Amino acid sequence: MNRSLVAAAMLGAASVLGFAPFGLFPLPLLTLAGLFALWRRSGSPLAAALLGFVWGLGFFLAGVSWVYVSLHDVGGMAAPLAALATLLFCSYLALFPAFVGFLFRRGAGRPLAVEGAPRSGGATAASGMRDASHEAAATASASTVASPRTGPLLRAPASPDFDYVGISLDGMAATHDKFRRMQGAFDKSLHAIRLCRDAGLKVGVRFTLTQDNFDDLPALLQLVEDEGVDRFYFSHLNYAGRGNKNRKDDAHHQMTRQAMDLLFDTCWRHQQQGLKKEFTTGNNDADGVYLLHWVERNFPGLAPHIRKKLAQWGGNSSGVNVANIDNLGNVHPDTMWWHHTLGNVRERPFSEIWTDISDPLMAGLKARPRHVGGRCGQCRHFDICGGNTRVRAQQLTNDPWAEDPGCYLTDEEIGVVPCVA
Ligand code: SF4
Repeated sequence: MNRSLVAAAMLGAASVLGFAPFGLFPLPLLTLAGLFALWRRSGSPLAAALLGFVWGLGFFLAGVSWVYVSLHDVGGMAAPLAALATLLFCSYLALFPAFVGFLFRRGAGRPLAVEGAPRSGGATAASGMRDASHEAAATASASTVASPRTGPLLRAPASPDFDYVGISLDGMAATHDKFRRMQGAFDKSLHAIRLCRDAGLKVGVRFTLTQDNFDDLPALLQLVEDEGVDRFYFSHLNYAGRGNKNRKDDAHHQMTRQAMDLLFDTCWRHQQQGLKKEFTTGNNDADGVYLLHWVERNFPGLAPHIRKKLAQWGGNSSGVNVANIDNLGNVHPDTMWWHHTLGNVRERPFSEIWTDISDPLMAGLKARPRHVGGRCGQCRHFDICGGNTRVRAQQLTNDPWAEDPGCYLTDEEIGVVPCVA
C-alpha cells in the first residue's frame, strides 16, 4: 500500500489521543501539520483528496467507535450491519477533510505565480536531470509570457539561478496586445526584455507563428536586432495546451516556408555582419530537413557534412532526451504532453519513471527507429527528423504514430512519389 496513505491513516487515528480521556492536547495540531505536509507532497488535487479521506477515516473510525456500540450493543442491530453503518457514517465525515485536501492542492503550485519562482525553476531543472541516469547538460532557464501574473519573475531578472530568460512576443504592439487581450502588454514585455538585457542576462524573444502574426515577423526580427536581444526562438504551433485551442489558426504550409526562408536569410546576414545572435526553431523537426535543402541550394559542398550532423542529432527526442516535470512533480514526455502523465517524482525516482517502458507511449517514443506511418514512414529523411512531433498526430487523429500533419515539406523534398489514381 502507498506509504503516504498509511501515514495519513495513522496520523488521523493518532489525532484521537488529543481528546478525552487521553487529553494529549497538542497532538491534533501536530497530526494536522503532518496531513498538510502530505498534501504538499501529493501529486494532484485528487491524490490530496484521497489522503484527506484516509486521514478522516483513521480519525473518525478511531474516534466514534461508540456509534457501533450504541447500534449493536444498545440498539441490538446485527454486528455486520452495525459495522457497515459505522463505516458509512465515518466515510461521509471523511469527505470533509478530503474536500479540504482537494482545494488545498488545487490552490498550490504554479511556481511562476509566486515569489521565489526563479529558485524553484532552477532547482527543478538541475535536480531533475541529475536524477536521470543519462548524460545531460542541466541549465536553468525561464520562459514566460511576461503577463502581470509573472511579475515576480520579472522583478528578479538578475537572479543567479538563471542562465537565460525567454520572453514571448506574439508580434508587434497591436498584435501582441490583441493576443494577450491586454492594452500595453507589449510595452511591459519589451520593458522586461530591456531589464534582463541591462542586468547582463542572456535574453531571448519567443515567437509562435500563426496566420495572425505572420506579417509581423520581419519587424520583430528587426526589433531583436535593434534591441540587442541575444536569441530569437521561433516556434511552430503545436497542438497541445494553448496551441491545441489555436490550431485552426495554424499558418498554412506556404506561410511556414516563407517564415523559415526569412529566418535563414536573417541568420546568414547576421553571420556575414559578425552579429552574435542565436536563432532557434522548435516544435517542428522537419526544420532540419528544410535546412538541409537550403544548404544544398546555397552550399552544395557542405551538404553531406550537414546531413551527417543532422542525422547525428536524430530529430525529435521527446521521451528520450527531453523530459518535462511540471510544478506538481508530474513527469511528461515533454512540455506538449501535459495530458499524459508518466508518474510523479514525489512518489518514484525520476530515473525509474523515465526508463519504465510499460507505458505504451514511452515504449513507442524510445523505439529506434520509431514506428511512424503515412508520409513519415516513407520519408527519405526520417533519420534527420525522427517522425517529428507526435503530439500533433495524436491530437488530430487519436493515433500518436500517424504522420505529422505539421510537416510542410513537399513529397519531392521527402522523396515520396505521390500515388496516381
Ligand atoms: S515526412 Fe515526417 S519524417 Fe519526413 S520530414 Fe516530414 S515530418 Fe519529418
